[in-house]
Amino acid sequence: MSGTETWVLASHNAGKIKELSEILAPFGIALKSAADLDLPEPEETENSFEGNAGLKARAACEATGLVCLADDSGLAVDALDGAPGIYSARWAGEPRDFDRAMQKVQDELGDASDRTARFVCVIALARPDGSMAHFRGEVVGEIVWPPRGEAGFGYDPIFQPVGETRTFAEMSAAEKRALSHRGRALALMAAAELGA
Ligand code: IMP
Repeated sequence: MSGTETWVLASHNAGKIKELSEILAPFGIALKSAADLDLPEPEETENSFEGNAGLKARAACEATGLVCLADDSGLAVDALDGAPGIYSARWAGEPRDFDRAMQKVQDELGDASDRTARFVCVIALARPDGSMAHFRGEVVGEIVWPPRGEAGFGYDPIFQPVGETRTFAEMSAAEKRALSHRGRALALMAAAELGA
């Protein structure tokens, strides 16, 4: 790829914008955020990660005429039939309280012997020609109780990836990114779209 191209990340999350900017910069792609462009945040009305990521990417693409990326992510617990899933943020209520959301996961699991869970991240890429691609990254682990660690965000203190003795909240940002659902989805997107 030559010259400078501008892509958009349909997100107001500063952490996601920084992470993606660093990945795209070596390919001559400058990233603008939904906040930079004053884009509205569409309501997440679909019933899948793919659907919600896609509707955010498509809305931003229609508003800007640029290649737009959006992601949707969450925690899916096997014994809870995939809950909280696409409702992961909503389980924390308003204003967000993840101590409460983590307690709800623990309460609903009760004494279930299967504590398998996965973080899922789907990145949607919408192009002005109407085409769309999806990239899904997952990391499998188990729900631990009580919560451990101070780093990260959301459900990180109760999620321990397979083969690890620490939760995501006990890892550095770089260690988590090397294992995480978002890191994997980004790597798939970079490989498919950028030849990375
Ligand atoms: P969204 O993808 O920005 O809509 O966020 C979905 C929700 O999933 C977040 O608010 C968190 O509750 C949860 N979540 C997504 N990724 C992670 C993660 O890496 N760690 C902890 N929680 C996460």
